[in-house]
Amino acid sequence: MPNKEKLPVLYLITPCYNEEKVLPSTYSLFLNKLKELVKSKAISSESRVLFVNDGSTDGTWDFICEISKENRQIEGISLSRNRGHQNALVAGLMEAKDRCDVTITLDCDGQHDINAVDLMLKKYKEGNEVVYGVRNSRAGDGFFKKAFSELYYKLINSLGGEVIVNHADYRLVSSKVLNAFADYKEVNIFLRGLFPLVGFKSTTIHYDQFERVAGKSHYSFGKMLGLAIDGITSLSIKPIRIITGVGIFVAFISFIGVIYTFVTFFAGKTVPGWASMTCTLCFVSGIQLISLGIIGEYVGKTYMETKQRPRYIISERTYKE
Ligand code: UDP
Ligand code: MG
Repeated sequence: MPNKEKLPVLYLITPCYNEEKVLPSTYSLFLNKLKELVKSKAISSESRVLFVNDGSTDGTWDFICEISKENRQIEGISLSRNRGHQNALVAGLMEAKDRCDVTITLDCDGQHDINAVDLMLKKYKEGNEVVYGVRNSRAGDGFFKKAFSELYYKLINSLGGEVIVNHADYRLVSSKVLNAFADYKEVNIFLRGLFPLVGFKSTTIHYDQFERVAGKSHYSFGKMLGLAIDGITSLSIKPIRIITGVGIFVAFISFIGVIYTFVTFFAGKTVPGWASMTCTLCFVSGIQLISLGIIGEYVGKTYMETKQRPRYIISERTYKE
């Protein structure tokens, strides 16, 4: 059983999707760090690196099986299909929560500086149950991705979400918090915004983001936009309220338009006004369609939530359950 008097059992959890080019160089980084921490008596020798294979179609899972045979500190689970980064993280966290005292999630491509783990553990030992890794610099991300994400953090926080700026799923979470988090059953998940909602004592540490050691990012613009929309809809219903506000504003403008029409009619100054009519029509129709789209997004999400489908299915493990 997890026990704070003893050395904490740490699980380093890393999701992998088609990362056969990356894992041969990064797995030893994780393993060496774990061994170093065990040696310096910072963590228990029961600590593990847990790889979550997110339905890869390349040799990722075979590689995880191979290294887990050679090293008892390495374990792996495989999801029955690709479920996306966030679900893969939840699968790893839920798998680990009853077997450890503390987890740290990080990407498997070497972008998250593994040396920040020491500071995270230090903050944990000082009494923090969640430690958020915040990027100082963002090597490997293009201008567009950086600009989009800057804007996004501002937007989501102004809509009522509580997201730590420049934090990207490199995070220490204790098993105590994970037990509380296990009650969050939603399928539309955005972990960066959910852990602040769960609460508990937390802090931040800073790290430098590196380039990917190999391969390409799996976050295309479409996927990034999907995650961004999931984040907002999972944390806030303010967009629907904003629509109501826009509706009231447009109705008010229309009312003034009607008064103006009456005034010009009685003054005998009516003009054809085709252009202004068309512009107004296009503008109002545009607003209506966007509004329907936003409401539709929430209705669709509600539909998905009501089905209560599992977020992931574990099809294989490198160890016995
Ligand atoms: N990942 C995953 N499932 C996916 C996409 C990505 O498990 O469907 C993993 C990926 O292997 C990596 C992490 O999530 O460990 C972050 O992905 P990536 O490096 O492609 O994103 P970026 O760092 O470019 O935002
Ligand atoms: Mg990456």
